[in-house]
Amino acid sequence: MEREELSMWEYLLKEQEKGYWIEVKEFVKNDIPPKLIRDMDSGIIETGRPLIEKAGPKGLLGARFPKIYGGREINWISEVAGVEEVGVLGMSLSCAFVMPSIVGEALNLFGTDAQKQRYLLPTNQGELYSAEALTEPRGGSDFFGATTNAKRSGDFFILNGEKRFVVGAQDADYFLVYAKTDPEGDPRRSISCFIVERNMGVEVQNIYQLLGTRGGGTGRIVFRDVKVPAENLIGKLNGAYEVFN
Ligand SMILES: Cc1cc2nc3c(=O)[nH]c(=O)nc-3n(C[C@H](O)[C@H](O)[C@H](O)COP(=O)(O)OP(=O)(O)OC[C@H]3O[C@@H](n4cnc5c(N)ncnc54)[C@H](O)[C@@H]3O)c2cc1C
Repeated sequence: MEREELSMWEYLLKEQEKGYWIEVKEFVKNDIPPKLIRDMDSGIIETGRPLIEKAGPKGLLGARFPKIYGGREINWISEVAGVEEVGVLGMSLSCAFVMPSIVGEALNLFGTDAQKQRYLLPTNQGELYSAEALTEPRGGSDFFGATTNAKRSGDFFILNGEKRFVVGAQDADYFLVYAKTDPEGDPRRSISCFIVERNMGVEVQNIYQLLGTRGGGTGRIVFRDVKVPAENLIGKLNGAYEVFN
């Protein structure tokens, strides 16, 4: 009797879970020109935006999220199968592909409807390029020791500090930023999460190529008295513990 040869995902995914995986495979094969990868590799291009601009309109970004916010409501395993396919395009394009899912998770679970309309939907549609900023020059493992701080002033938070190793630093339209809002409090209840748009005054320093993230515009970002509208707080004040989890 002949044995059927199945790839891992053919074996693991149920029939109704295979559609997204197959679409992403086709996208990777047909929609990303080798020249883009070569140009990113040699530093001519320092952004993953070309990928999200192609993947968004095809409904491939943030596929786990509700349809009203640009997702497909597929399950985690189906999304992971797709993400694995993008891995062959290299670290930078893979980061660009998963960022809507990472930043989107915070928005989807903790954002208000207005925040989801303003950021989650256009991110999944490939119209906004997102990035996450949690690691600091002092280190990334000690999340609750963050020194980037946000002080309330009227309808704004005034943000000061630095983040490093941020994939997309060079070109992202907005950043999901974690900052200390209660420096004297219990460290686990001292940090809040914000959406900070680049044009609110984010400075970019030092673009570098972290662990193969060539062409991803990875770098250090600096906040000097950046005025962030209070409505850009994601989740509760001092509640980043839950968001980051
Ligand atoms: C490819 C890549 C992409 C990334 N993209 C992003 C991004 O988009 N946005 C972002 O914010 N960050 C990003 N990061 C950063 C990542 O989150 C950090 O590298 C990570 O949090 C670890 O922080 P660190 O590198 O500063 O190491 P450190 O925190 O300085 O740790 C260094 C070493 O010390 C060990 N260590 C630390 N504390 C202790 C302890 N208490 N006890 C014992 N050992 C300890 C760690 O395990 C590690 O081996 C990226 C990193 C990489 C490699």
